[in-house]
Amino acid sequence: MTIAIYPGSFDPIHYGHIDIATRAAKIFDTLIWAVYDRPLKNLLFSVEERLDFMKQAARDYSNIKVMPYHGLTVEFARSQNATVMVRGLRVTYDFEVEYQTALANRQLAEDIDTVCLMTSLKYAFVSSSTLKEIAFLGGAISEIVPPYVEAAVKKRLVALGDGSSDKVSLVSLRE
Ligand code: ADP
Repeated sequence: MTIAIYPGSFDPIHYGHIDIATRAAKIFDTLIWAVYDRPLKNLLFSVEERLDFMKQAARDYSNIKVMPYHGLTVEFARSQNATVMVRGLRVTYDFEVEYQTALANRQLAEDIDTVCLMTSLKYAFVSSSTLKEIAFLGGAISEIVPPYVEAAVKKRLVALGDGSSDKVSLVSLRE
């Protein structure tokens, strides 16, 4: 039985993430969709909110477990007996970063392999930072995120008020 982990910040999830998680769930016996609680970037949503979005997205998949984690991803993977780390690839830049991260992780944990799934073409340009930027500027994000995420993003922007993009500085996926 192969347990895989799909880690990330997921602030918030979008259809590109859901596509990778649900495809990975068809390949592996169990997929642990893991949200890193406090990454080194500014966040729009708390870990509880991000987990809640992921749970809603995974509700029809009995072999997807949504969990938070803290600290080294490989240590969390080991604690869950996961032997595979799933990552999504969009553009060639993603490959360079994932390649480097996979080598670093293998140095830390030889027993864990990274498996990268290529994005579906329609999500190739979707990222959490792009969707936040579009929303901050008043654009529609309904094609990029599920309705419950869209509603939460809109609500958060209203709560932040004018100049919300200054209060939550936008970061690119790899910053
Ligand atoms: P990070 O892990 O760098 O904080 P995210 O949490 O946004 O970034 O993404 C988690 C994982 O999902 C990464 O492997 C990332 O490459 C992948 N991913 C992000 N957006 C997409 C997309 N549109 N299509 C496929 N994979 C994606």
